[in-house]
Amino acid sequence: MSSDPCPCRATDPRPLAYAACCGRYHAGPLHLLAPTAEALMRSRYSAFVRGDHPYLLATWFTGTRPADLEPGPPDLRWLGLDVRRHAEQDPDHATVEFVARSKLGGRAHRLHETSRFVRQDGRWFYVDGDVG
Ligand SMILES: [Zn+2]
Repeated sequence: MSSDPCPCRATDPRPLAYAACCGRYHAGPLHLLAPTAEALMRSRYSAFVRGDHPYLLATWFTGTRPADLEPGPPDLRWLGLDVRRHAEQDPDHATVEFVARSKLGGRAHRLHETSRFVRQDGRWFYVDGDVG
């Protein structure tokens, strides 16, 4: 539902609805037009949660983009996203440090990654990331 809270759990200051948050970039007039690397990172997390692989591939830098994405395990549950840091090295290069939590087979997982993003022709793309 478009009025559901966004999977990325952004607040402003109350939880934002999916349609008012990452949903704007998944479809509609702002499709693929996340204005900052952080907004793109959040929208990619939400796309992971929703299984929106076309969006993930469309926002992946061509030089590092995989040919295809495997569906995740059916019992994988994403629990939340914490954006720790957003830094712009210049107007077209940025990094976003985040922690994404998930649960699989009753076990909790924590992904801590610093992702690199590049802007081309006014659009942000995910390049790659360092886990740890
Ligand atoms: Zn969101």
